Amino acid sequence: MPRRYGPFGGSFVPETLVPALHELDRAWREARRDPEFRRELRRLSETLGGRPTPLYFARNLTRRARGAEIWLKREDLVHGGAHKFNNALGQGLLARRMGKPRLIAETGAGQHGVATAMIGATLGLDTEVYMGSVDMERQKPNVERMRLLGAKVIPVTTGARTLKDAINAALRDWIANVRTTHYLLGSAVGPYPFPAIVADFQSVIGREIRTQSVRAFGRLPDLVVACVGGGSNAIGTFRPLLRTKVELLGVEAGGPRGSKGAGSLTSGSPGVLHGSFSYVLQDQDGQVSDTESISAGLDYAGVGPEHAWLKESGRARYIAVHDTDALRAFHWLARDEGILPALEPSHALFAAVAEARKRPSTQHVVVTLSGRGDKDLGVVLGAAR
Ligand SMILES: *Cc1c(COP(=O)(O)O)cnc(C)c1O
Repeated sequence: MPRRYGPFGGSFVPETLVPALHELDRAWREARRDPEFRRELRRLSETLGGRPTPLYFARNLTRRARGAEIWLKREDLVHGGAHKFNNALGQGLLARRMGKPRLIAETGAGQHGVATAMIGATLGLDTEVYMGSVDMERQKPNVERMRLLGAKVIPVTTGARTLKDAINAALRDWIANVRTTHYLLGSAVGPYPFPAIVADFQSVIGREIRTQSVRAFGRLPDLVVACVGGGSNAIGTFRPLLRTKVELLGVEAGGPRGSKGAGSLTSGSPGVLHGSFSYVLQDQDGQVSDTESISAGLDYAGVGPEHAWLKESGRARYIAVHDTDALRAFHWLARDEGILPALEPSHALFAAVAEARKRPSTQHVVVTLSGRGDKDLGVVLGAAR
């Protein structure tokens, strides 16, 4: 696992956090080599998390696209309803190994908060989750879930009151309580070693795609597609395929038509946010822009540094999909396949259908369905009114 991604990455943090980041890096490197840790991670991934998740042939959606075959990597079936569990479990086990009795986390859509609350309960760790008050309003069911799972949800009322501000609040808490607390960061962002750790725990997605696609259709896919908020489900999908010829497509939130949305790679520029050098949506003075997206999970001005490098090096492509198109794809999957996707992967689904249309029926497109749509019903019904 690299510490730097070309010019991107690094750890731009206050000095008080440096020892904690070193401790975390050491613990993670030791844990990766420890067969006991790997056994426990695997056991809980399977028996609690429900892994491996299926690779599903979306026959009706393929018929709609009239082109390449579309296959879905079903992370919506993971315990808790999203891929977030993969990372929360891994880091929760790391926290226990480091002897930290308390977990803190930030959350946008609420999915990472729910995953952390579940793992906190499973492993017997105190859990507190920072959440922007705007996000608490639009993702109410997940706020209730976190509370039922025994976590404390702390509203963040600074800035735009969304994910960026929740991360700032969690970082402040961590600085103050670093001896007893593990900051369970929810995406492939932040200072090193977080992007590497999160990518590592999410890479199970791409490893399973590798073996399952060979089993299902005899070879690797031609293209994999994943949505990009901070970039964890996408890097987990891409990483095990980096040294192959598989095309990689990341899909950001374009927001409402005519807005700048939340596409840091597609509309932003290089800069530092939350401790790492990557792409950021910012103005000419380097002030971080407010973002806009129908999906709380993609509503973030930054992105993981490894994606910045994959873009710059040309290994992966990134595009943005607008709110209305994501909603269209949501309804396609509901009607065609009987699956309610989360709004985040609905962005990727729209792009996958558009790509499949351009390709012959002999090709295979795999799209990572990062989560299920139950949490978004209010937003989807509101949009239809
Ligand atoms: C959080 C979330 C995302 C965005 O986060 P990434 O780190 O970019 O994966 C995407 N989909 C779902 C369902 C989420 O909950």
